[in-house]
Amino acid sequence: MKKRFSNLWFAFVMLVFMIMLSSAVFMMTIIFIIKRFTIIEPGQFHAFGFLAAVLLTGILTGTLITAVIGQKILLPISRLREATKEVAKGNFNVQLYENIKIEEFREMAKDFNKMVQELQGIETLRTDFVTNVSHEFKTPITAIEGYAALLQNSDLPAEEREEYAGKIISSTRQLSMLTNNILKLSKLENQEIIIEKTEFSLDEQIRQALLLLEPQWSGKQLDLEIQLAETGFYGSEELLMQVWINILGNAVKFSREYGNLSVTLTESPQNVSVEITDTGIGMTPEVQRHIFEKFYQGDKARASYGNGLGLPLAKRIVDLCGGRIIVSSKPGQGSTFLIELPRG
Ligand code: ADP
Repeated sequence: MKKRFSNLWFAFVMLVFMIMLSSAVFMMTIIFIIKRFTIIEPGQFHAFGFLAAVLLTGILTGTLITAVIGQKILLPISRLREATKEVAKGNFNVQLYENIKIEEFREMAKDFNKMVQELQGIETLRTDFVTNVSHEFKTPITAIEGYAALLQNSDLPAEEREEYAGKIISSTRQLSMLTNNILKLSKLENQEIIIEKTEFSLDEQIRQALLLLEPQWSGKQLDLEIQLAETGFYGSEELLMQVWINILGNAVKFSREYGNLSVTLTESPQNVSVEITDTGIGMTPEVQRHIFEKFYQGDKARASYGNGLGLPLAKRIVDLCGGRIIVSSKPGQGSTFLIELPRG
C-alpha cells in the first residue's frame, strides 16, 4: 500500500520548518542586538518601518537558505534529468549516484539504474540477434553464390556439375530451415497461450517422429529402445511434434555410430513425462548452460545441419504448455532430456 505520508513529504516539511525557524531566529537575533546594544533609541525609529525591514531581511535570509539547501535536495532530480536525456539518445551506459539520504530519491536512483541495465541487456540481445541472423544467412548464401558461379562453366564434367547442384540445394534447404525457425520462434515469442488444442495420442506422435527420423538413426545404426505408455493428450499436436523432432533429432545427430537411443513415455494423472536418452558426445556444464539460447551451438563441427534454434524453439513450446525440460549430460557419455508436460 502507498504510504500516505512519505519520507519525501517529511523531508519537505522539515525543510520548510527549518527555513522558517532560521528566519525567525535571525529576526529575533537582530531585534535582540538592537535592544541590547540600544543601536537605535526607542523614540528614533518608526515601528512599522523597523518591522518591515526585519521582515524583509528574514525573507531574504529564508530565500537564501532555500536556494542553498534546495539545490542540494533537487540535485538528484537534475542528475535524473541528465541521465534520462542520455537514455533517450540511446546511450544506456549511464548510472545514477545511489548514496542519497532521502529514501524516495535513493529508490528512484536504484530503479533507474536497474531499468538502464535491463535496457542495455535487451539492446545487447537485439544486436547479438541481428549479428547471428546475418551470420547464419551469409554462410549458405555465399555457398550458393560460389557454386552457381562454378556451374556457369559449360565445360564442367557431369559429376562436378551434379556435386555443385547438390551443394546449392542443401544450402537452399539450410536457408529455408533457418527462415522457418526464425519465423516460428518469433511467432511463439509473441504468443502467451496455445489456442489450437486437440485430443491426440502422444505415444503415436512420438512413434511418428521417430519414423520421420528413420533415415538418420538407421544410417548411424543406432540401437533403439522404445517404451511408450498409451497416452491421450490434450494440447497443440503441431507444436509438440516440433519438440520431439528437435530433441530426438539432436539425440541422433550427436550420437556416435552403434550408439543407443532410448525413448520412454510415462504418465500420471497430472503429468506426462518423455525421457530421451542418447549415448552420444554429451555436453560439458558450460555447454549445458547455454543450449537454450538462440543460435547457440556447442559443437560447431557436428552442428553444420542446424542453426542453434532447435532447443530454444522446443523450450518455448514446452514453456507455453506450462511444462519444463530438464537436461542431464556428461561429456563423452551421453545426454538425457526429460520433458514434463502438465495434462491440459
Ligand atoms: P543445433 O542442433 O541446431 O545445433 P539446438 O538448439 O538444437 O541447435 O542445440 C544447441 C546445442 O545443444 C547443440 O549445438 C549441441 O551443442 C547441444 N546439444 C543439444 N542436444 C544435444 C545432445 N543430445 N547431445 C549433445 N549435445 C546436444
